[in-house]
Amino acid sequence: MRAGDAVGGDLALPRALPPAHPAARRARPDRVDPLRVGGGPRARGGLGAGRGHHVGVDPVHRRRGAHVPRGQPGARPDERGARAVLGRGRARPERAQDPAAEGGPGGHRLPADVTDPARLADLLRHARDHVPHYRRLLADVEITDTGALDVLRGLPTLTRAEVRAAGARLWAAEGDTSTWRLSRTSGTTGLPLEVLVDQAAQDAERAALHRRITALLPGDLGPDLAVFHLTLHAGAATRSLAFPGQAPARLVKWNLTRAWRLPDDRFLDCLREVDGQVVTGMPWVLSALADRIGGSGRVRAALVVMSGETVHAEVSARVGEVFGCPVTAMYVSAEVGIAGAQCEAAHVYHVSEDVVLELLDETATPADEGEVVLTSLTNRAMPLLRYAVGDRGAWVGGSCSCGLAGRRFRLDGSRVTRVAARAGADRRATTLDLAKLFTQLDLPGVDVVQDDAGTVVVRHDAATPVPPRTAAVIAAAVRGMLGPATRVTVRPRDPTSPVTARPQDEARAADRDLRLGQGPPSLEPVEVAEWARSWLVGEPGVRAAALTGSFLSPDTFTRHSDVDLTVVVDQDGPGWPRLAREMHRHLTGLRVNVDTAAAVADSPLLRARLLSECHPVLGDLGEAGVTWPSVPALRAVAGPWLQEARAVLWTQLTAAEGVRDPVRASWLSSRHVLNALRYHCLVRGVRTTVAEDVLAVAEEDGVPGLREVREVMEVAAEHRPPLPVEWDGGEGALAVGLRVIGWVRANLPR
Ligand SMILES: [Zn+2]
Repeated sequence: MRAGDAVGGDLALPRALPPAHPAARRARPDRVDPLRVGGGPRARGGLGAGRGHHVGVDPVHRRRGAHVPRGQPGARPDERGARAVLGRGRARPERAQDPAAEGGPGGHRLPADVTDPARLADLLRHARDHVPHYRRLLADVEITDTGALDVLRGLPTLTRAEVRAAGARLWAAEGDTSTWRLSRTSGTTGLPLEVLVDQAAQDAERAALHRRITALLPGDLGPDLAVFHLTLHAGAATRSLAFPGQAPARLVKWNLTRAWRLPDDRFLDCLREVDGQVVTGMPWVLSALADRIGGSGRVRAALVVMSGETVHAEVSARVGEVFGCPVTAMYVSAEVGIAGAQCEAAHVYHVSEDVVLELLDETATPADEGEVVLTSLTNRAMPLLRYAVGDRGAWVGGSCSCGLAGRRFRLDGSRVTRVAARAGADRRATTLDLAKLFTQLDLPGVDVVQDDAGTVVVRHDAATPVPPRTAAVIAAAVRGMLGPATRVTVRPRDPTSPVTARPQDEARAADRDLRLGQGPPSLEPVEVAEWARSWLVGEPGVRAAALTGSFLSPDTFTRHSDVDLTVVVDQDGPGWPRLAREMHRHLTGLRVNVDTAAAVADSPLLRARLLSECHPVLGDLGEAGVTWPSVPALRAVAGPWLQEARAVLWTQLTAAEGVRDPVRASWLSSRHVLNALRYHCLVRGVRTTVAEDVLAVAEEDGVPGLREVREVMEVAAEHRPPLPVEWDGGEGALAVGLRVIGWVRANLPR
């Protein structure tokens, strides 16, 4: 993984998730935290420098409790002793002890860092006593505060593959599992890695972020300050989390993929939510946002904290210009959490006090530069001791005035082996960077080449087109990696080229496949209609087909919405469920209703919606026998339906179980409110079911609470973040729904 895939995975998660057994949690996809998506194996080896620096004995470092100022380890080894002597008087008082300074094996200053050896010793004892994977490795090992670093160094490093193979053997047999959270990261291989994170680790990440914010915004923390973690990852959840008694008071994880479908001016309106607030995100996301926002002054954040791929100075500058605020970066490992904070210079970070960071050469010996190996001091749910994150780094000497403690290191982006595209001498996008980007965008089968003229060509399968909005995100992200002047084109792979064409059978499988992961936020109705037609055309017995519902409008389409496809057929038959299942398999979130015209006639609202808001796929619904329902027929079903809708929302509002997802509550409420308003129109003879039209009619008729209804709809569509669970829990949304449904019911014409 690159420097920091995401700022703390905990940031937008409710404190009190439903208690669950770890096995039960595994089955819940919504517990997968897309904030932590990213990471992956990195080519190892190829290191050269750093060996031989630790030969020789330095008597200064051997002394117990010797204080060595930070920032020295990058110095030449022969200078270190002298500097240490000079530095002793200037030791930072808050650093009581530096075991690295005392020396590990050999008694010399080793390139490793632990600010609190007692914490490390505690963690090691916990691993030995409660984690099956370490029981044997640490059996009979005496673990003292002073010897803790040596014990740690005696352990083998852990690779991503090893973590996956060890699985639950890395889970602690002790601890409060109700606060544990399963975080899933994905790498280039597509095989996800699951890490259990406990409450202390989540709190530590939040505290680390809080420290950065308060340091960079001194005196500016009003009670309304919030941190917005912005993502463009299709599967990421939108949530808010309250922090009572602590500024920032609110943490919001906001998935912008749905808002991204809105026109520019509406999208900008949504983004104004972050005015004056702290924004965090991966560099490519912020880069794409800066492109979409276009100019400075339209959105004004207080501070941007980037976490993710190596942050280029140009990207920082551009993001800072567009958001009109300072920009900083944190080094975050998806598996370990926040491991460092940016110093004054680009690429240089101070080690977080919550991790032990080692740099190891190809013989796994501590070195001045090498592979980054991390140990989190906070997470006891699944202790990863000496986890090789796949980054390379070098210790940095000298001093700085940025105010951060912790030794400094530089992330080394210059030795990556698999460069997919480059610009100039120092800008490059690796295959890993791009694989992570495409994983987040749910774009399998996409790759990147660079032509002789330097244009970056993003290639996809001819049969699985990349929608224009997604192409714009890709182009912006690649420009973020390579510089704003980079030319990017997105086009299908040349099917005639033996090198780039996919195997024939694979291409055929992709032929009818529109699956874009979790829901189709980037698909347009016209694309889905075309795709559905390719399935239905030529099927005997199909008379007409149409798309209806919220998918047709970005204002009403939510993560919980289905894509409704109604197929009117001659007669029932055993083949229809199979066809529906096949289609569903190829398009997540599709709901296929196959019915005869006579059966459709039994559902007056469906008939009205089919005729009013349909996006035609095939044939003509009228010719297939679908007719507009009579007002008496509508009135007959409206009353019972409203009663049922009230019962649904009432049950939700009064449910005993505490935590509720406000986005889902908003979806449930707005869905029932819209149908109630549809009945309101239809029983008065107004022949429309289109959301915007029924809202306009309701407004004219003086239906109360419509402004709140629109807000609830915006939350449901993730065009605005919800209130934190602790503040509201979606109750407001449900109450708004009950109020409108009650009014419609009371005012139903007899
Ligand atoms: Zn610094």
